[in-house]
Amino acid sequence: METDSVLRDSCEDYHEDTNISVNAGLIHPHNIDRSILIESETNETSQPDEVLSTSVIGHEQETVTFEVFPEGSKRGKPLLVSSDGFRYSVKKNQKKSVLWICSSRSLKVRCYATVIQKGSEFVRGHTSHQHGPKVSLKEKISVSVQVKTSASANPYKSATEISTEIRDNSILPEQPGLPLASSLARKANRYRCTLRPAEPKDLQFEVDECFLKCKDFLVADITNGSARHLVFATKQQLELLSNTKRWFMDGTFKVVGQPFESGQLSSIHGFVKVNNVEKQVPLA
Ligand SMILES: [Zn+2]
Repeated sequence: METDSVLRDSCEDYHEDTNISVNAGLIHPHNIDRSILIESETNETSQPDEVLSTSVIGHEQETVTFEVFPEGSKRGKPLLVSSDGFRYSVKKNQKKSVLWICSSRSLKVRCYATVIQKGSEFVRGHTSHQHGPKVSLKEKISVSVQVKTSASANPYKSATEISTEIRDNSILPEQPGLPLASSLARKANRYRCTLRPAEPKDLQFEVDECFLKCKDFLVADITNGSARHLVFATKQQLELLSNTKRWFMDGTFKVVGQPFESGQLSSIHGFVKVNNVEKQVPLA
């Protein structure tokens, strides 16, 4: 079969053990994943159509689909995930095909199971996985990618809100093996950390005003001896403050970390009235 010979050519370094028993009762038009057919308890029987998923085994109960997540890995690298619970990273990127190799890291022995991608077609290599599949893997990766994307696109939305929303909208509540909203929120916060400028180590740092994405938000940067005061407010806040007769001051030490641990976060508040509703809001 044509795909078979292509596979042998491209995978000769990886399939050390091609002596896999095949279920002779099944027809394999694309010669896909004999190992999956052997492990019948891991097969999923009803998967929705995916945009990048085209591989079909010649049996209506044995469909395995594949989906590429361009930034699906922890380091934001491409990840291929199969509906039967295995994940692959790019081993070789060729002109007309991509060779994916199993990226399971929970093993002492490296797993050499492969998949060849040609356009939107995916074909499993001869080597079996040296481990079992992961439950709900595709859904887990999908949710994780969505959380990261949303955490980056909505910097002022809380991580818990993002995670709960995506988790509730993406998956069935009873689906096993899926992360809790709280652990997704931690993931979102860890990811946001990587997008922020490095934490300052001393007081002699420069404020990255481009990162603030709010023109004139840094109102003053005052150094007095060994102390430093940074004053933040938007133009609208200052206008409101100038029209407010009574100011209220508050301060907290709890949220202040290095290198401001001996200082505090102070805020000035005023009462603002809109449509007969009066509320206290921070103005600087
Ligand atoms: Zn594997």
